[in-house]
Amino acid sequence: MSLTNAPDPAIREAVVQQDLKNVLHPIVQHKALEAKQIVVTGAEGSTIYDADGTAYLDAMAGLWCVNIGYGRAELAGVAAEQLRQLAYFPHTAMNVPAAALAEKINELMGGGYHTYFVNSGSEANEAGFKIARQYMKHEHPGHYRFKTISRYFSYHGTTLATLDAGGMGERKAKFEPYSGDFVHVAHPHCYRCPFGLEYPSCGLACVKNMETAILGEGPESVAEVLVEPIMSGVGVAVPPDEYLPEVEKLCRKYGILLHVDEVINGFGRTGRMFAHQHYDVAPDIVAIAKGISSAYLPIAATVVKNSVFDSFYGEASENRQVGQVNTYGGHPVSAAVAVRNIEILEAEKLAERAADVGAYLQDGLRTLMKKHKVVGDVRGKGLLIGVELVKDRTSKEPVSPQSITAVHEFCRDNGLLIGRSVGGRRYGNTITMSPPLVITRAECDRIVETLDRALSTVDFS
Ligand code: PMP
Repeated sequence: MSLTNAPDPAIREAVVQQDLKNVLHPIVQHKALEAKQIVVTGAEGSTIYDADGTAYLDAMAGLWCVNIGYGRAELAGVAAEQLRQLAYFPHTAMNVPAAALAEKINELMGGGYHTYFVNSGSEANEAGFKIARQYMKHEHPGHYRFKTISRYFSYHGTTLATLDAGGMGERKAKFEPYSGDFVHVAHPHCYRCPFGLEYPSCGLACVKNMETAILGEGPESVAEVLVEPIMSGVGVAVPPDEYLPEVEKLCRKYGILLHVDEVINGFGRTGRMFAHQHYDVAPDIVAIAKGISSAYLPIAATVVKNSVFDSFYGEASENRQVGQVNTYGGHPVSAAVAVRNIEILEAEKLAERAADVGAYLQDGLRTLMKKHKVVGDVRGKGLLIGVELVKDRTSKEPVSPQSITAVHEFCRDNGLLIGRSVGGRRYGNTITMSPPLVITRAECDRIVETLDRALSTVDFS
């Protein structure tokens, strides 16, 4: 049954009733779902289709993840072939697609890495924490380094430990208390500098703040520093170019591992295969997910530098294996699909395309600043973009959450799906965009034109 071009109101209504009666959805108010539902039954390129035939331009690529765009039928062939050949076996043994995928990832990282497979971005970061802790136990017997330094307003996943690592108080509050093993420092967000300073005269106060935290905690208690190269969830914050290299220097100075979260940033999104490659750093641990398979099937991974891998390569008597297993880790079908996904990213030069079309979309969005005073800032890298809405450009007072919701709903009702930041009252006022990397210039024009109309219509007072 293909509903892409075959609207079917009867099926749609049946699904809505079935869903409302039986499903508990993530991060949506069920009352809002009752008022307005999208029943997705087909998708092509950057467009998704409701069962009633309505088309939506998906400027978020699902949840920042469908990098190669929707509707690539060849991936169905790859999955079917692998299902017939070998549907599953645990990754305690080897399998053909997972070995090929790990080799590909190592190549994309520039060599010198091994890959541990999991199923989601949260698990990839969580395995990163555990690998860092184990590494430190191996390297410093009797002197245990276990803390992770991460940033306020970051997001690293849904598990308790990744939530603990994240720095969004309003998002975390429902699940308190936390372990205290995660120490938070100021985030690099130049439009809203936590120190009220301006770049470059700030002297990178955010890096100094991190060093203070390392010294205050005692470097001998810190296992790793965790950063997303370009913060996404807070409304897309691109740090100064020196930020990540300076963080890496701190890590080297104090013998701390650098753990980079490329869950959103990776696989071409920011104009390079991985965002840390803009900054010429060599992280010790890298969490990848989403774009690895463009979400055609669930798969994610924790990629570790060979110096970390080596610490797990002891004599049998030393018992140095990674102390956990994920049932579906290294799943052959997901891995086969991920390999083909990466081949498509490379063959179609989608990272370069993200840089090019991303600049075009950002330029288009910047033209809105002339017409709409409410647009305080347009920022991003490649096709990872934030448009911050403020009541006043000087005070930068955020617009109300209700008006952001109204912009959202206007866009949705006019066939455009956009995202929004989740940093609470101080940071919840940014529209986010992370479209498929195949988005066309004409589709970018539609985004700008629809947002233009939304900004003219919504009351921001
Ligand atoms: N890290 C970042 C930066 C993310 O944005 C997300 C999810 N959006 C995660 C980790 C967690 O990934 P997942 O939802 O696949 O567990």
